[in-house]
Amino acid sequence: MVARLLIGLVVIGAIVMFVRGMRGRAAAPAERRAVDARTVRCAHCQVYLPRDEAVVADGRSYCSREHAEQSRA
Ligand SMILES: [Zn+2]
Repeated sequence: MVARLLIGLVVIGAIVMFVRGMRGRAAAPAERRAVDARTVRCAHCQVYLPRDEAVVADGRSYCSREHAEQSRA
């Protein structure tokens, strides 16, 4: 009886670990999408920066006013 109880606990532990692992993996892409939504890439030097710090010119995002002007020239 004690052996069965131990096996039961191991099985439950394994299921809990498995479910946690699945949740962790499922949460990762959503988190990455959230980061992408807040981040833009400079069209001139390809650097990533927060959307609210970006300079937008001609519908493109730049890391600085200088790069916006250089890219246009
Ligand atoms: Zn740049």
